[in-house]
Amino acid sequence: EVITINLDTPLYKGSISLNTGLFINGEFVRPQESQDAGKIDIINPSTSKPITSVHLGSSLDVDIAVDAARKAFKSTWGLHVPGSVRGQKLQRLAELIEENLEEIAALEALNCDESYDFDEHLANSSFILPFFTCFVLNPDRSLILGKPFAQAKQEITIGCIATLKYYAGWADKIHGKTIETSETKMAYTRREPYGVVGAIIPWNGPLAMFAWKVGPAVAAGNAIVLKPSELTPLTALRVASLINEAGFPPGVINIVNGYGPTVGSSLSSHPLITKIAFTGSTVTGRKIQEAAAKSNLKVVTLELGGKSPNIIFDDADLEQAIKWAGVGIFTNMGQACCAGSRIFVQEGIYDAFIQGFTAVAQHLQANTGDPFSSPNTLHGPQASEVQYKRILSYISSGIFDGAHVQTGGEKHSEEKGYFIKPTIFTNVTPSMKIAQEEIFGPVAAVIKFKTEEEVIEMANNTTYGLACAVFTENISRGIRVAHAIDAGTAWINTYNTLATNVPFGGYKQSGIGRELGEYALENYTQVKAVHINI
Ligand code: NAD
Repeated sequence: EVITINLDTPLYKGSISLNTGLFINGEFVRPQESQDAGKIDIINPSTSKPITSVHLGSSLDVDIAVDAARKAFKSTWGLHVPGSVRGQKLQRLAELIEENLEEIAALEALNCDESYDFDEHLANSSFILPFFTCFVLNPDRSLILGKPFAQAKQEITIGCIATLKYYAGWADKIHGKTIETSETKMAYTRREPYGVVGAIIPWNGPLAMFAWKVGPAVAAGNAIVLKPSELTPLTALRVASLINEAGFPPGVINIVNGYGPTVGSSLSSHPLITKIAFTGSTVTGRKIQEAAAKSNLKVVTLELGGKSPNIIFDDADLEQAIKWAGVGIFTNMGQACCAGSRIFVQEGIYDAFIQGFTAVAQHLQANTGDPFSSPNTLHGPQASEVQYKRILSYISSGIFDGAHVQTGGEKHSEEKGYFIKPTIFTNVTPSMKIAQEEIFGPVAAVIKFKTEEEVIEMANNTTYGLACAVFTENISRGIRVAHAIDAGTAWINTYNTLATNVPFGGYKQSGIGRELGEYALENYTQVKAVHINI
């Protein structure tokens, strides 16, 4: 079923055609009638009004998609196809997304209200993960006003297109090793794909998450069945319409929309899926691991939540620390897995930091609105009503527990959508709920500390371990603390900087395995050792 979305906004004018079915075996199909789960409205969070609705799949559709993926893997994909050819098709898909960038970015902005700017970082090989970035400072030190539509284009350019191209380049460079075992015997290893990969992704960076899964999985020779978030399936469906043109045989990339407990759970318990890759909450990650264990012991990689500590020492460059603390927690309205939501500030710099950081939050509060219709918007709505209510309840809990609302602490009353004011809590103690649980909103919990030893202990006092940051002009201390924190990523004097070729993933309950870089390919291949008697 093809629908047309007409957009006539100051930032984008045009019609977007979209098939709202499931993409299975190279074609858009309707869900199987016997288990038809109906349709879901896809909401624009700035207005809380539906943009369109898409069809929902069921376990039956998952079975059909897995069957198509298996057939492709066994005949037209996998190691039947040279890596260079797999790479060419991924490269072509990336180029087609590039050719349709305006339209795809408009769709992403509409569905997600991306709000960020990272022009400053485009010149570098590393980048601020776009959907984690809402503002950066100009060289003249004034805040750049957000250009959400332009920024959505940049997110797709770097988070999605560059990732697909990066893995396109890897497709013919996935090698084994030769190993001498004795004078008359030797062995070699092969890196073989798993077969059919199931992928389940969240709503906070839909196309980047699509590319983080599809890129390495398909480059390594797997076929994939991907479930987008039920909140944000539009861009994955738009990209699905380019898959055949890119030259992929039917069944290599399949997209099944649907809810977690139906389509998601069918993927994680499917006996013919041999590897599942998930990004989302720790609660869901646990369910997926359980389902994987109970079904066929499929290999699981999980990218989960966080409560990342951002540690600011007395000797930090204050201006930089304030800027990056803002990037760390307020980017994408706080809806970032590696958000710097616990900010530890040493006592000597505390007052000055709070003053500057409060000004950042208030600047965002003053520039809150629909990011799609105004180039002046810095802070948009939360992505869904559920998320919005959840964040407000965390704010109430912080107030109830005795934390002080330095600024914000409430919804934005002038806006119709799901807007919450960037919030800073001070007088927070480490045991409070707002200092322990992932809020996934624009809420910073600031905690004062005295010594390095004390802050390392407090920072590690969490079940999460996704990321951390250290601000200090003493590089030895920066490195020492970065090594001492239990986290998969540590930043020194920056925040949210990621690079396509650097691994990303969590310690503790923030995840298993790594995405990005060469490391991701290890998660999509299994090693076979072949022994030879010479
Ligand atoms: P979520 O766990 O609710 O949903 C994520 C996906 O899982 C969705 O597609 C959902 O439909 C699906 N799902 C839900 N229940 C399921 C089930 N029982 N079985 C299988 N699939 C199921 O998370 P969310 O609210 O969409 O995303 C926010 C979370 O994602 C946050 O906790 C955040 O930290 C995390 N996240 C992590 C990373 C990372 O790289 N570590 C990146 C982005 C988001």
